[in-house]
Amino acid sequence: MNIIIFGPPGAGKGTQAEKMKHHFEIPHLSTGNIFRENIKNETPLGKKVKSILDAGELVPDETVVDLVKDELSKSKYDDGVILDGFPRTVAQAKALDSFFDENDKKIDAFLTLTVPEEELINRILSRGEGRSDDTPEMVKNRLSVYHKETAPVLNYYKEKGAVKEINGVGTIDEIFDRIKEALS
Ligand code: ADP
Repeated sequence: MNIIIFGPPGAGKGTQAEKMKHHFEIPHLSTGNIFRENIKNETPLGKKVKSILDAGELVPDETVVDLVKDELSKSKYDDGVILDGFPRTVAQAKALDSFFDENDKKIDAFLTLTVPEEELINRILSRGEGRSDDTPEMVKNRLSVYHKETAPVLNYYKEKGAVKEINGVGTIDEIFDRIKEALS
C-alpha cells in the first residue's frame, strides 16, 4: 500500500507515520529525516541543504525528486511506502505520479492531517527536539512556505478525488484510530 501523509509543519505527520509503519508494516520515507541525517553526517547532500533547512525554505524540487526516486527504487519499498514530507510542491506531486505510472504503482491513500494554526505553532515551539528550524521566526516562515508552495498539493490530489481528511487534534492514539478507520 502506498500512502501519502500530508499536512503543515507540526501536524504530526512523522509521529503518525511511525505508528503506521509498525502497525501496517510498511516502510516510512521521510524526506525531512533524510535531510537531517545527511546534515548530521556532513555528507555532500547535507552540506548542500543545511542552509535551506535552517532558513525554513524548500530544497529544490530536482534534488528532492532525484532522492525520492532513488530511494523508492530500493526493493524494501516494493510492497509499499508511507511518504512523509513529500510531495511538498505540485511539481513534486507530478513527478511522483509519473514515477508511479512508469513503475506500475499507484497512490492508495492520501491522508491530510488538519490542525488549527495556533496549535501548530504551540506544538512546534514546545516539542523541544532542538531542531534549528524550530525557532519562532523559522516556524512562521515554514508555515508561510507551506501555504504558498505546499497547500496547492492538497488541491491537486483533491481534484483526483483521493484525499482523506483526518482531524489532527487529540491524543496520538485518538488520531491514529482515525487513520486506521480512514484506511479500512
Ligand atoms: P516539518 O513538516 O515539521 O517542517 P520536515 O521534517 O518534513 O518537517 O521537513 C523539514 C525541512 O526539510 C523543510 O522545512 C524543508 O526545508 C526540507 N524538506 C523536507 N521535505 C522536502 C520536500 N519534499 N521538498 C523540499 N524541501 C523539503
